[in-house]
Amino acid sequence: MLAPLLEMLFRTIMSQRIVIIGAGQAGAQAVTSLRAEGFAGAIAMIGDEPFAPYQRPPLSKAYLMGTLERARLFLKPETFYREANCELILGVSVRVIDRKARTVALTDGRTLSYDMLLLATGTRVRRIKCPGADLAGIHYLRSIEDVDGLHAVFQPGKRLAIVGGGYIGLEVAAVAAKHGLDVMVFEAMDRVMARAVSKPVSDFFEQAHRTAGVKLMLNTGVEAFEGASHLEAVRASGAAYPADIALVGIGVVPNMDLAKDADLACEDGIVVDQNCATADPAIFAAGDCTWHVGREGVPLRLESVQNAIDQAKHAAYAMLGKPKIYSEVPWFWSDQYDLKLQIAGLARSSDQIVVRGDPGTRKFAVFHLRDAAVVAVEAVNAASEYLVGRKLIVAGARVAPERLADVSIPMKSIA
Ligand code: FAD
Ligand code: NAP
Repeated sequence: MLAPLLEMLFRTIMSQRIVIIGAGQAGAQAVTSLRAEGFAGAIAMIGDEPFAPYQRPPLSKAYLMGTLERARLFLKPETFYREANCELILGVSVRVIDRKARTVALTDGRTLSYDMLLLATGTRVRRIKCPGADLAGIHYLRSIEDVDGLHAVFQPGKRLAIVGGGYIGLEVAAVAAKHGLDVMVFEAMDRVMARAVSKPVSDFFEQAHRTAGVKLMLNTGVEAFEGASHLEAVRASGAAYPADIALVGIGVVPNMDLAKDADLACEDGIVVDQNCATADPAIFAAGDCTWHVGREGVPLRLESVQNAIDQAKHAAYAMLGKPKIYSEVPWFWSDQYDLKLQIAGLARSSDQIVVRGDPGTRKFAVFHLRDAAVVAVEAVNAASEYLVGRKLIVAGARVAPERLADVSIPMKSIA
């Protein structure tokens, strides 16, 4: 009796229409996963940028450097969406969701109906609020167009003031220093990447940037930008620092206004359960915009490619009636100079750290333990520490700290 009912439900789902809001990393993955899982109904994806989904990570790395051409940024070949029978609506925003009518209204006047809706709206840059914030010469970095705007002024000898010593700030500082710009970074905290990495890793990257000639100003919040119409100086801690260009990288805010206006629960992101479902059975969310329950049972918002891909897959499973709990180990990476930083797990809850290797060799790792179990690893130019560390986290393995610290014991043996 149950099997024919399930069969009927599956067939109904398979002929429905799914609308995806946001043509980014999560949106593109959702299209792939829905088709891979056999969804045969209609898919429409709406993106407010004029481009098909592309990768953002190279924007602050190879694309800014000029060593990666624009065509290589796109996540899928042009033919993909046609072949996947996905209607791609670009350069248009979704203005409002009508949950009762199950429709979305677009800024071009159209209204689309949906059976199921995926919110994959990502984040937008946090704008700095201080005098002079609207002067010409002040840049942000989130999109292809932002980098193209920067390229025009990114010339050797220019004085670049970077506000924020987070991922964006430091990746751009590395590219700019290599490119011959005169770089100064203003960071409000007492160490760089404080939100993302532990103190030993912060200290290491601080030194690497100073060695490359970057001037780092810690504990220094920017008070104002000065200039007649174009930026001329940055005022911080009472002093004026001459600058030709500023790049502001002070974090992002989730795009959740649509969800809020539709009365969906929001915290620092759109609230979803471990199947990426909202409280409305027809609405799911994935990627940077979600506030979800992490592996450790603590609600959080993640900003990473891995999370966008994995949540989009899980949203697709749930939409097609085959939910799988999302509890992946988060992972992140950053490239600065010749340094590849790879992170797995979240270090926030650790009670012990173990450093393996000598940071002076530019190859080392920091393991984070809680109750003797490995919960996170930060690896610099140390691929096997990262790979094995990830396995240890997944397994919840307990490893003696002295074994982790002993570089004469290969990581493979520890695994
Ligand atoms: P997004 O990729 O931001 O896509 C969301 C899309 O939805 C956007 O195009 C947005 O404009 C659109 N949208 C929003 N609202 C609407 C609406 N109402 N109607 C229509 N469209 C809408 N992560 C890493 O893991 N490693 C890295 O090295 C790394 N480097 C990065 C470098 C840069 C410069 C940046 C900006 C990000 C980087 N990230 C990195 C973060 C990573 O790119 C994001 O976590 C990822 O893109 C999130 O995917 P998403 O689909 O959730 O959001
Ligand atoms: P971020 O990593 O959150 O870093 C922002 C930094 O700016 C933080 O250290 C923050 O300190 C500081 N800050 C905040 N307000 C400030 C102020 N008024 N003056 C000076 N400093 C201030 O964010 P981001 O670097 O802007 O990156 C934006 C997004 O792109 C994020 O989603 C990020 O994950 C993503 N990204 C990722 C990568 C990567 O994974 N490799 C690379 C580039 C970009 P507080 O913590 O105290 O607020």
